[in-house]
Amino acid sequence: MHNPLLEQGALPTFSTIQPKNIEPAIKQIIAENKAELAKLLVANQHYTWENLLAPLDEMGDKLMKAWSPVSHLHAVMQNEELRAAYNVCQPLMTEYHTDMLQNETLYQAIQSVANSPEYHQLTDAQRKVIENDLRDFKLAGVHLTPAEKIKFAEYQKQLNKLMTQFSDNLLDATQAWVLHITDAALLKGLPDENMRMAKQNAEQRKQEGWVFTLEFPSYSAVMKYLKNRDLRRTMYEAYVTRASDQGPNAGQWDNTKIMQDILTIRHAMAELLGFQNYAEYSLFTKMAEKPDVVLDFLYDLVEKSKAMALKEVEELTEFAKKLDSIAQLEAWDYAYYTEKLRLEKFDISEEELRQYFSMEKVLAGMFSVVNKLYGITIQELKGKDTWHPQVQVFSVHDEKNNLRGYFYTDFYSRANKRGGAWMDEIRVRRYLSDGTLQYPAAYLTCNFTRPLEGETAYLNHDEEVLTLFHEFGHCLHHILTQVDYPGVSGINGVLWDAVEFPSQIMEYWCWEPETFALISEHKETKATLPKALYEKMLHAKNFQSAMHMLRQLEFSLFDFQLHLEKNASVEKTLNEIRKEVAVVKTPVFNRFAHSFTHIFSGSYAAGYYSYKWAEVLASDAFAKFEEDGIFNKETGRAYLKNILEQGGVYPPMQLFIAFRGRRPSIDALLRHSGLAFSS
Ligand SMILES: [Zn+2]
Repeated sequence: MHNPLLEQGALPTFSTIQPKNIEPAIKQIIAENKAELAKLLVANQHYTWENLLAPLDEMGDKLMKAWSPVSHLHAVMQNEELRAAYNVCQPLMTEYHTDMLQNETLYQAIQSVANSPEYHQLTDAQRKVIENDLRDFKLAGVHLTPAEKIKFAEYQKQLNKLMTQFSDNLLDATQAWVLHITDAALLKGLPDENMRMAKQNAEQRKQEGWVFTLEFPSYSAVMKYLKNRDLRRTMYEAYVTRASDQGPNAGQWDNTKIMQDILTIRHAMAELLGFQNYAEYSLFTKMAEKPDVVLDFLYDLVEKSKAMALKEVEELTEFAKKLDSIAQLEAWDYAYYTEKLRLEKFDISEEELRQYFSMEKVLAGMFSVVNKLYGITIQELKGKDTWHPQVQVFSVHDEKNNLRGYFYTDFYSRANKRGGAWMDEIRVRRYLSDGTLQYPAAYLTCNFTRPLEGETAYLNHDEEVLTLFHEFGHCLHHILTQVDYPGVSGINGVLWDAVEFPSQIMEYWCWEPETFALISEHKETKATLPKALYEKMLHAKNFQSAMHMLRQLEFSLFDFQLHLEKNASVEKTLNEIRKEVAVVKTPVFNRFAHSFTHIFSGSYAAGYYSYKWAEVLASDAFAKFEEDGIFNKETGRAYLKNILEQGGVYPPMQLFIAFRGRRPSIDALLRHSGLAFSS
């Protein structure tokens, strides 16, 4: 039978993938790989890279190439059949990986390569692959007793199932609620664009009036602009109680128990492996050496930002009191008065700014930025097969006009698509068994405000343009790699608290005047962002930056504490951290944790701090561009060579030092966040 998941060309043919293809393809590849593994382990006595590691790469790559489009479609084009097929295959995938990593014979075989005289003739990348493999075998329990191995494998399976349930619940809860308004008088304050979008939402549902959904762009517009305070509260409550025991759909799709179970299993797995707790286990594959290092780092930043954050809250409170006689600023007032205060203080409105940033212009400008920095050229490939008409495909060529890879963009929010923005891999750079080079490819997924039918999308600078640059940074890290071994190629094998370095550094270019000349063009006048407006923006750049910093620290500490302390209660830990850190009062019904996908269904468990951690690297590395010139060619090429091309072969600190000439300092981060004077 024809099965697109088994035909593994340079890029997948997404539109031809049917839910019914998934189970047969995954089962077939797993069976083939198992047979192949058995052959490898019997036939050879003396193991080498060529007769062991190379075939293992081949097997892993084959399965990854089938699974990547499946898990991607599951995230962005979900439907019942796809979900069902995914849920059948995910446990098979988990079982396969755990089986492999708990295979003592395979472990010994790889170990024998590490002990062989030929080991020293391998490249740094090959040796790193072996080193990581041996580490991962230990982290999957290869040394456990047979009974413990079974227990560990069972935990792993349950954990992955719960994590998927967590995110499916959130998706269902997000779709299940809308705010339907038929009286225009209630919608004062909303920009025209948002009104028209809400109208379109209603029409699609064959309803009168306006419909607002819990997809982020819709929710966020209501919170920022809607004058009606009661409706803001209604919307806020629905959003922050998704998938919980509170709010309009209380108890349906409730993640409460799932979160607790996830934590219990993670701790049990860590303990089986001999770690004190899950946080320690998590740090085993990160730059930070031990929990105290992370906590000290985070609390130091809390201390440096708290006083300023309190002032920011006070200013906003006073402003709301003055403007609308608001006696007590509530959670659903913050975004609204923040936008109003921004307008008054800096004479700058997000909606006015948005008109300068059409998707097309920003994209072209962003491509010019990286062309200047790294000499790469990005071209759209028309007519490629994709999963949605709004998806675009691009190729990346380097200075010598060599193809380096591909990426797919899927920018806009829609139903059946998970929230947030992320990058993931489709293909990894490696040589196939026939000697041809497989080029890396990546997904760049966002949830921006979708344009109205037949219209151009405009982005807001603060969130959307920055997010685009951020995710594109991840893509470049994956695509520009020069490493040919999957385990350490591109984003693979990079210590987790360094993965946000290449993404966050990109955000700094968004604030440079030379960049604005490239990414901005007014909707009507076609002028680039005027200098006066740029200066206002710069002035407003660190508006409420301490509040923003504290919020990130609150999330980081909450995540870390949950995974540090055994039997920690989600609610209790969150409340304690909030008491300690937060400057914004949260209502009792707020169930933020229930939608914290990063840690409950993503890869950031005991690792959310990575954003701040890597920001130190990104900020300080960008400071070198500030010193040398933000488009300095040599600096750009040095960054490309020392960071972007290196994948996970070397420790991030070593790479950073190679680029910067010294260890990172936190000063640049404090300066960039406007906190320097309080340190
Ligand atoms: Zn990121």
